[in-house]
Amino acid sequence: MTTAITTDRLDRVRAAAYRIRRHALDMGEVQGQGYIGQALGVADILAVAYTDQLHHRPDDPHWPGRDRFLLSIGHYAIALYAALAEAGFIPVEELETYGSDGSRLPMSGMASYTPGMEISGGSLGHGLTVATGMALGLRHQGNPARVYNLLSDGELDEGSTWEAALACAHHGLDNVTAIVDVNALQADGPTAGVLRTEPVTDKWRAFGWHATRVDGNDPAALLAAFDDMRTHRGSPAVLICDTRIGCGVPLLEDREKAHFMRVDPDEWQIARDQLSEGYHHA
Ligand SMILES: [Mg+2]
Repeated sequence: MTTAITTDRLDRVRAAAYRIRRHALDMGEVQGQGYIGQALGVADILAVAYTDQLHHRPDDPHWPGRDRFLLSIGHYAIALYAALAEAGFIPVEELETYGSDGSRLPMSGMASYTPGMEISGGSLGHGLTVATGMALGLRHQGNPARVYNLLSDGELDEGSTWEAALACAHHGLDNVTAIVDVNALQADGPTAGVLRTEPVTDKWRAFGWHATRVDGNDPAALLAAFDDMRTHRGSPAVLICDTRIGCGVPLLEDREKAHFMRVDPDEWQIARDQLSEGYHHA
C-alpha cells in the first residue's frame, strides 16, 4: 500500500514543524536554557510522527489502541512537549511552565508527569529495550498498535541498544520502528570522536533490521520513509535521520556545535524572527 505525499500532508507537517520549533524557543526562553539545538534539529521528525503517522487520542492518552512513541532521550523533552501541545495532549499555554516547580513538564521527560509521555528517559540506552518488550506484549495481545522509539546517535554507544536490536529482530517485531537522530554530536563531543558508530545503516542491516537513511530535516523524505516503515513486514524497521543542530534558526545553526547550547537573553527574539522569516519565505 502506498500513500501519496500530497501537498496537503506536506503543508500540514511543515506548519507543525514550524510551531514545534517556535514552542521550543518560547520554552527555552522561560528557563533561559534548554537543549534547544537538539529540539530544533528533531522538530521535523516529531511533526511527521505526531501530525501524520501516530494513531492516538489526545483526550485519552492511555487508549489501548494507541501507537506508542518512546522518547529515550529525556533531555529532548522540550521538543516532545512542543509536539504534544501541537497534537492536543497538553494546552499550548501550559508550555510556559516548562521546568518550573510543580509543572507537569519537567526538564527531563517523566512518564508519570506528562500525558502522552510513555517512558521516563534520561538514563540513556533503555528506550529500545522497553520498545521491544512492549511490542512483544502487543503482539501477544493481538493489538495492532505500533511502537516507535526515538533515540540518539549517542545511544548507539550503549550495549543495551544493540542487545535490544538483536532481540527485536530475533522476534521479527515488525510493529517496531526505531528512529535514530544522527546529529553527529553527543554530551562528550562529536560522535565520530567519542566512539565511531559509522557505518550506522550497515550495522542495523547486519542486525536484521529494515534500515533507511534520510535527511531528517526534509519533511517530504521523512513522510515517504515513515510510510514505507509502517507497511514493511517481517522485521523491525529503523529510520536513520541525519539532522542539523539548530535547524531553522541560522543564528544557532552557525554557532559552534555544543551539546548544551548557550543562548543569551537578547537572542531569543532574534531566533524567533529568523525562524519565522525562514518558514514564511521558504
Ligand atoms: Mg546526538
